[in-house]
Amino acid sequence: LLLAYDPARRLARLNVNLNKSIVGVRLMYELIDEEQDLQVVENAPELRVKNGEVALRDVHFSYGEGAALRGLSLTAEGGRTTALVGASGAGKSTVFALIERFYDSQSGDIVIDGQPVRDVSLASLRRHIAYVSQESYLFNMSIRDNISVGKPGASHSEIEAAARAANAHEFILELPNGYDTAAGEGGGRLSGGQRQRVAIARAMLRDAPILLLDEATSALDAESESKIQAALETLMAGRTTLVIAHRLSTVRHAHMIHVLDKGRAIESGTHDELFEHDGIYRRLCELQFQNRSEAAE
Ligand code: ADP
Ligand code: MG
Repeated sequence: LLLAYDPARRLARLNVNLNKSIVGVRLMYELIDEEQDLQVVENAPELRVKNGEVALRDVHFSYGEGAALRGLSLTAEGGRTTALVGASGAGKSTVFALIERFYDSQSGDIVIDGQPVRDVSLASLRRHIAYVSQESYLFNMSIRDNISVGKPGASHSEIEAAARAANAHEFILELPNGYDTAAGEGGGRLSGGQRQRVAIARAMLRDAPILLLDEATSALDAESESKIQAALETLMAGRTTLVIAHRLSTVRHAHMIHVLDKGRAIESGTHDELFEHDGIYRRLCELQFQNRSEAAE
């Protein structure tokens, strides 16, 4: 069965199954993308996550012209933090899109605890994965409902606990109607830092074992920055986290760093190992991280 995920059908799905199937789905990403075909296996078994190890094995992928991933292999150890770094266009976001299966690779496998993502049901795959970025999408509905997208039917105390853990509870209480305040179109009533904390609360509530985190590139005010960092650390604890890293502090603390270049992993190791090696990573550190980190740390 070949399903075409064209924008109109995505929108239709969105309206019909607002409380179920959109959970964890990157709406904006989905909606603006051009038509893509996924090979859907009927009656596919559910993904079963134990350690939460995510592995890419010789993955080749092209969006059309040119290759985005060219034989990429890497492993994200279960329960640990793995950082992806590399210049713009290296393929980092594509790795996330393939793990969540917005696209299928042309060859090679993406495997979670031994199960190729294309062999398990799409719903079960996405249920086990949370995605957080500064661009996380908020609906124009209440903050409460925006958080409970993470777990439809959650009680208020669960929602509030998630918001507290995400350092969002205090600013939410200061809004005109607290948890019942509408977030505005695309979350426009909130600042970027507030939106991200709502997205963290949503992921907290979902409690998915695998976390895909795209760190903010644009600088936030120092207070938001430190609150978001603290919230993310709480969220990451005990989960398999793949992070597209833009901060020196993140790569320093990562269990493993993979340096992507033109769709391949060209260096892998810890920050100290890679820095010692005096290769591309060291150059990246000097270019990509230095200015930001001095301002932020
Ligand atoms: P990174 O996140 O490291 O900046 P990406 O994964 O976004 O890199 O991009 C890898 C390559 O794929 C780039 O050449 C980029 O131009 C291309 N690419 C990314 N997204 C799309 C898309 N939706 N359609 C076509 N090409 C894309
Ligand atoms: Mg990217």
